[in-house]
Amino acid sequence: MQLDGQYEKSMYINGLWCNAESGNQEHVVNPASLNKIKAFSYGDGADAKKAVEAAKKAFTDWANLSARERSKYLYSAYTLMMEKQEELARILTTEQGKPLAEARGEIASAASYLQWYAEEGNRVYGEIIPSSNKGKRLFVVPQPIGVVAAITPWNFPSSMITRKLGPALAAGCTVVLKPAEQTPLSAIEIVKIFEEVGLPKGVLNLVTGDPTSIGQEFMSNPDVRLITFTGSTEVGKLLMRGSADTVKKLSLELGGHAPILVFDDSDLEQAVKMTIMSKFRNCGQTCICANRIYVQHSIQEEFTAKLMEQLESMKIGEGLDEQVNIGPLIDENALLKVKHQYEDAISKGASTALGGKVYKEKLNGYFFEPTVLTNVSNQMKVMNEETFGPLLPIQTFETEEEVIELANHDRYGLAAYLFTENLNRAIRVMEKLEYGIVGINDVFPAVAEAPFGGIKQSGQGKEGGREGIMEYLEMKYVSMGLKR
Ligand code: ADP
Repeated sequence: MQLDGQYEKSMYINGLWCNAESGNQEHVVNPASLNKIKAFSYGDGADAKKAVEAAKKAFTDWANLSARERSKYLYSAYTLMMEKQEELARILTTEQGKPLAEARGEIASAASYLQWYAEEGNRVYGEIIPSSNKGKRLFVVPQPIGVVAAITPWNFPSSMITRKLGPALAAGCTVVLKPAEQTPLSAIEIVKIFEEVGLPKGVLNLVTGDPTSIGQEFMSNPDVRLITFTGSTEVGKLLMRGSADTVKKLSLELGGHAPILVFDDSDLEQAVKMTIMSKFRNCGQTCICANRIYVQHSIQEEFTAKLMEQLESMKIGEGLDEQVNIGPLIDENALLKVKHQYEDAISKGASTALGGKVYKEKLNGYFFEPTVLTNVSNQMKVMNEETFGPLLPIQTFETEEEVIELANHDRYGLAAYLFTENLNRAIRVMEKLEYGIVGINDVFPAVAEAPFGGIKQSGQGKEGGREGIMEYLEMKYVSMGLKR
């Protein structure tokens, strides 16, 4: 695809590229330069309705294929995606802003979900239950749930899509995909890959445009059997409420507010390095990235000094520049949110150890300096709300009990991390953390082969792993009377 700003048909329904029925369009904006890079169709509920119809029509034939047959399409898509890794990474960076090295990593990660579910689709087993009645046989038969509506965010415009498409298609479901309006280009490229490998028409449909109107159609349409969503807790709740009338199944990956617990018996070099990787990857715009750092009192000074030393050498800029480590935030609202949380913390007594300003040097985009705050307290927004930006607050603690309480006081429960070299402490603390994911001396838990998902207001359901495909299956129970 040329990023030349020319209009292209950006929606894909029933195997055909098309435009929004309304004729409306919007532009994708490069968040680093604020240049308009491409126009795309801004569809609505009417387009979503057509896409659901197409997915419904395609469902029976797709579900009737053998798992092996479905797996071939996924495996071909995986291979093609890896062949196009460089091209796709450049598109991703241009529309989303993350440094190119991270974008390449995301494409590899995105492809890995297709590969893994190409394999896992062949291992969807049912069950035979020993009956208490000699005259009966009892079975559990897994079957695809039906038409799936997938709503995805802009922070990982490729991997959040394939993490849904992989298991959905492998299970035998058909899909209508609605990507975030900030990053439709990566979604278009993924659909083109499936088109190129010959996926039957209607199995995967793409609708870009107005989230409220498309979301409304997904929620109210009884033919949509599952909404799988990654995004904010607020929209997740709205989807739950709106799906009540049609009693839809929901799989929700929502917000996070991850704590990092650094104990005095940790490998400090590793803890500092990983804290930076977790906090500043994707400019802090990751639902599992470190949001608040709790450092044991006796090592706080050393930890902060080492952290700042490493952060000072980081280069801010346009992601396509190979030297850049930190790109822009996605849009103005994101920038204002970081600024607001920073000012709130300062007004309540925090100190700026590093950064603190909107970054303007020769750049037009939405850049904010990597920022470190100390003297932080629980009353500050940054310690209670998801930041989604390069703002790192450090609070100290004295005891294990105290820090577990601080970590758990949150309404979110997605990911938490701890650094310690003490095995007993690692297990003890891990078991008490109220989170769906815990990283022990590790901040990169998201992989295709493991179940990713939050508890509390961070969502429900799992993505990845054996568990990930279960979201897309109904377990049909069969009770059979036996004649002797
Ligand atoms: P963020 O605030 O990080 O952009 P959102 O939850 O708003 O997170 O966005 C995640 C996804 O949800 C995007 O694809 C967005 O278009 C979609 N979305 C936003 N509002 C709605 C809505 N009312 N109904 C359905 N989808 C929505």
